[in-house]
Amino acid sequence: IPPINGDFYELGKTLPGHERDIQLRVREFMEREIKPIANDYWNRGEFPMQIIPKMAELDIAGLTYQGYGCPGHSALLEGFVAMEMARIDTSISTFFGVQSGLAMGSIYLCGSEEQKKEWLPPMQKLEKIGAFGLTEPEVGSGVAGGLTTTCKREGDAWVLNGQKKWIGNATFSDMTIIWARDLEDQQVKGFIVRKGNPGFKAEKLEDKMALRTVQNALITLTNCEVPETDRLQEANSFKDTAKVLRMTRAGVAWQAVGCARGAYELALAYTNERKQFGRPIASFQLVQDLLVTMLGDLTAMQTMVFRLSEMQDGDILKDEHASLAKVFCTLRMRSIVDNSRALFGGNGILLRHDIARFVADAEAVYSYEGTKEINSLIVGRAITGHSAFV
Ligand code: FAD
Repeated sequence: IPPINGDFYELGKTLPGHERDIQLRVREFMEREIKPIANDYWNRGEFPMQIIPKMAELDIAGLTYQGYGCPGHSALLEGFVAMEMARIDTSISTFFGVQSGLAMGSIYLCGSEEQKKEWLPPMQKLEKIGAFGLTEPEVGSGVAGGLTTTCKREGDAWVLNGQKKWIGNATFSDMTIIWARDLEDQQVKGFIVRKGNPGFKAEKLEDKMALRTVQNALITLTNCEVPETDRLQEANSFKDTAKVLRMTRAGVAWQAVGCARGAYELALAYTNERKQFGRPIASFQLVQDLLVTMLGDLTAMQTMVFRLSEMQDGDILKDEHASLAKVFCTLRMRSIVDNSRALFGGNGILLRHDIARFVADAEAVYSYEGTKEINSLIVGRAITGHSAFV
């Protein structure tokens, strides 16, 4: 039986040696530390806090940022890291994406020098954990113009009121970035809300059917006082929030590739083990056709995100580029995980065979960081010149 490998065009091997080593270290970490416990934590809806120091040893948080203790590697490597994580457990890659991308990224792109010096080094070491609060109970796709959480300047402080929904890591994070509309100039501003602030309450969202290991919270801000020094000094409007999302959306496209690749590899292995009619099911023509269709999609997805990261490294990435990859890769991911599950037959719905978790988790990746429709509209606006949002 040939080795199981979803990187058919060997894109990983194009990374320079030192970056390829990091990719393979992440793979080894995920297989050794996460794979054996992934279903159990997912089933219980708990986060394995004990893995955080071990993950820190990989030295991969804030991977592309320059300075502040961050390693300054390529966006391409960052993509491969997201892919390797999601290939084993999309919940873990989501936890990491919130920390390294959304939370650290907000500070890196929108913070003052002091804020970067205070937060980025300990966050890089995963000694401090971050969260990112943008979505609200009544405002998801429409956040650009519709945020209802407010901030009001009172002397040297700001007072925040409102709610945030779906906020990953926020039940245990040391800080949460909160985006709120200024009652004065109506612009969106960002704030670092520290753990223990009496005006900040985070309640865990129960009953999720996807990414159950990720701790998502409903946050309530009641006269939550934040000093002016904790306002993100370079975030002056939603355009600055969008800068963070542009970067992280590319990461979500890579996550979709990882989720699809993990599912395809599980299916390929299973079809070689499982026998029907006295032969491995992998020997049947219809099964091979399905596997090859999946591999074609997977390879197209990989080459797409590969180029996306090259554009990021070349500083020519636009919103619509990231959005197209998010739409295409999450659509193909959904199809690949569904077909992979079907190849497991009845066993495909038993958690212990892993594939059921991939099917469920793919649903969240499909919807978060902008749904398929919203990302399509971003691309549609770019190619037609007409905005269809309102
Ligand atoms: P809605 O906006 O209510 O959309 C419902 C449906 O209507 C979708 O199909 C949508 O595409 C469609 N729709 C809406 N407007 C249009 C339109 N103009 N044209 C066509 N169709 C339209 N947010 C954070 O801030 N921080 C986090 O850490 C975070 N983590 C998340 C983790 C998970 C597991 C999930 C599920 C979500 C998370 N989110 C987070 C929120 C996420 O980004 C939103 O769920 C997403 O943006 C969609 O918003 P919504 O759920 O309110 O859906």
